[in-house]
Amino acid sequence: MEIIKTVSEVRDIVKKWRKAGHSIGLVPTMGYLHAGHGSLVEQSVKNNDKTVVSVFVNPAQFGPNEDLEKYPRDIKRDSELVASLGGDIIFKPEPEEMYKKSNATTVKVEGLSQKLCGITRPVHFAGVCQVVSKLFNIVTPDNAYFGLKDFQQYVIINKMVEDLNFPVKINPCAIVRDKNGLALSSRNVYLTDEETKSALSLNQSLQYAKSLISSGEKKAFFIIDEITKIINNVPYSKIDYVKIVDIDTLDDIDIVEKKYAVLLAVYIGKTRLIDNFTELS
Ligand code: AMP
Repeated sequence: MEIIKTVSEVRDIVKKWRKAGHSIGLVPTMGYLHAGHGSLVEQSVKNNDKTVVSVFVNPAQFGPNEDLEKYPRDIKRDSELVASLGGDIIFKPEPEEMYKKSNATTVKVEGLSQKLCGITRPVHFAGVCQVVSKLFNIVTPDNAYFGLKDFQQYVIINKMVEDLNFPVKINPCAIVRDKNGLALSSRNVYLTDEETKSALSLNQSLQYAKSLISSGEKKAFFIIDEITKIINNVPYSKIDYVKIVDIDTLDDIDIVEKKYAVLLAVYIGKTRLIDNFTELS
C-alpha cells in the first residue's frame, strides 16, 4: 500500500492498471478513518481489482466558520487501516495540488444542494461536487463508494453523475454504528463523554420513528414531533432539522409510505451530527 501525493503519479499508476485490464474502485474520504470508512473500502476491495482511497480534507466544502483547521487527521492510522483491508493506494494530495490558484470552475447541483444541510452549509455541496468530479477525472474509477450516513451527499452525487455523464457506478453503503448505536463519524472525537450520551438520542429517536412507521403510522408531522421530543429531552442538544423527505427530490412529504428518508441534523454542544434511516438502509 502506497501513499501518493500528486495527480500525475496517480494517473501513471492508473494507466498501468488499465493496461493490465484491472477494474478500479474509489473511496473518497476526508481521512481519520473509522469502521464506517472501512466498510466502504472492504466493498471496493471485494468488487474491484484495485482500490484507491482518497484522504483529503477538502477546503472547498467548509464554510468560513466551520472546522477545517481542527478537523482530525491521522495518516499513519489511516494507512494502517487501508493496508489491512487490502486497499492499493491512498491518494493524499495537498490543497495546492488539488486547487490551482487560478481555478475558475465550480460544479453545483442546483436545488438538491440548497435543501436540508445546504441551508446551514451553503457552500458545502458545491465543494463536495467539485472535489468528487476532480477525483473521478483523476482516478477514472469504474465504481465509487459513498456512505448512506451522508444521504443528501449520496443523492447529489448520483444526480451529478447522471447530469454530467460520468462513467462511474455509485455504490451506496449502509451506515456503520458503534455498539451503542451512534453512527460512526470522524467528528465524534469532538464529543465529551456527557455529550456522547446525549448524541445517542439521534439513533434512539430514529429507531422509535422506525417502530412507529412499521406499526402503521403514516403522518410525517406526528413522527417528526416524536423525534423532536426525544432529542430535545437530552442535554446539549439543539436541532438543526428533522425532516421526512422523498428520496429523489429531498422535498418534504406529508404521508410516509414509500421512497422516504427520515433525516436529522443536530448540534450536540458545538458538534453538528447527522443521521438518518431510509428505505435503502
Ligand atoms: P468523510 O470522511 O466523512 O467525508 O466520509 C467519507 C465517506 O465515508 C462518505 O461517503 C461517508 O458517507 C462515509 N461514511 C462516513 N461515516 C460512515 C458511517 N458511519 N457508515 C458508513 N459510511 C460512512
